[in-house]
Amino acid sequence: MYEYHTHTTNSPDSRVKMPEYCERAIEIGIEEIAFTDHIDHDPADRTRGHNKYPAYMADIAACREQYGDRLTILAAAEVDWNRKTAPDVRAYLADKAFDFIICSVHWINGEYLGERALNHPSIELYRQYLDEIEALVTTEDFFHVIGHFDLGKRYEAVNGRIDLDHNRTQLGRIFDAMAAHGKGFDLNTSAVRAAANEPMPGPDILRLFREHGGEHVTIGSDTHMVSTFGTNIDVAVLTLRDAGWTTVSHIENGRLVAVPLERVMDALRIATPTFA
Ligand SMILES: [Zn+2]
Ligand SMILES: [Zn+2]
Repeated sequence: MYEYHTHTTNSPDSRVKMPEYCERAIEIGIEEIAFTDHIDHDPADRTRGHNKYPAYMADIAACREQYGDRLTILAAAEVDWNRKTAPDVRAYLADKAFDFIICSVHWINGEYLGERALNHPSIELYRQYLDEIEALVTTEDFFHVIGHFDLGKRYEAVNGRIDLDHNRTQLGRIFDAMAAHGKGFDLNTSAVRAAANEPMPGPDILRLFREHGGEHVTIGSDTHMVSTFGTNIDVAVLTLRDAGWTTVSHIENGRLVAVPLERVMDALRIATPTFA
């Protein structure tokens, strides 16, 4: 199995060193880790500039040296994006190489989407957000998957959901563009640990994405602590299956490749009672 959403000391909000995750990965049967530390450019984000590429790549090299025979380690990033920061993001990535990139839209008009979920109705919350996402999928090609698609749900379990009926037309356009360009979703289990109690995106969105030709979903816990590394991967797999998916994707030679779920579940050594 793969753990494709993790934060380390290279993110402003984690104190976990990469080797701690590598040890845990070997312990529970994770075969590949993507270290997706934040790369932020929005002026409202006080932590922007924290992640220094040379230091990050030095950490990756050291981990590959120490654990490379047992783990595949991806140089990766969770890149924050919106139309205002697009030129800065493009300039930043121009001279840097990553194996895997999650693109997340965290900020709308200087407000964090999670905070907005507490004081805006879903229709308002996601109207501007989905406009940003549609702009992303029709103008940018630097990323592989979209991060925690219905992020508001992690902060407000009801109002923070994307209203499928209200947004169906625009979601269709977004999913068509993603499928056409081979983009996928980060199936993010951090909202399983919140009141929403399901991954982001949930089964209804996964099903609709599939109907529009979507082929790729990566799984990640969005962990900032060792204790949540790899958690609820079993829930993510069951959610995928419920939504009609038989594969999970990972990176091979710079591209997303879909792998049968059975194959990646074999090596996993965490409790998966519902899967037996
Ligand atoms: Zn994020
Ligand atoms: Zn994250």
